Amino acid sequence: MATVALNKDRMEGAGELSTMPIHMADIGTDNYEQEFTLSIAQSESVVLSQIDDALRRIDNGTYGECEDCEKTIPKARLNAIPYAHRCVRCASESEQNQ
Ligand SMILES: [Zn+2]
Repeated sequence: MATVALNKDRMEGAGELSTMPIHMADIGTDNYEQEFTLSIAQSESVVLSQIDDALRRIDNGTYGECEDCEKTIPKARLNAIPYAHRCVRCASESEQNQ
C-alpha cells in the first residue's frame, strides 16, 4: 500500500510544474491523498503489531497491566483501545519522550 502511493506520486509529479498555477489545486489534492494513504498504511501496521502484543499478553496473563508502571489499566481505556499496553499516564509520558 505504501509503495503504491509513492510510485503513483513519482509518475504524476514530474510533468505538472509548467501548468501551474492552474493545477495547483490538483497537486495539493494528490499530496494530501498520498499522505493520507501512507498514514493509514503506517497506523494499520502499528495497530496490527499492537494487537499481536495484546494477544501475547492475554496468553501470559499480563493483559490489562501497564507495561511501564505495572498498574491495572482502567477498563474504560481497554474498552476504547483494547490493545493498550500502557495506562493513560505512561502513554502520554512516552509520547512526550519520542
Ligand atoms: Zn502506567
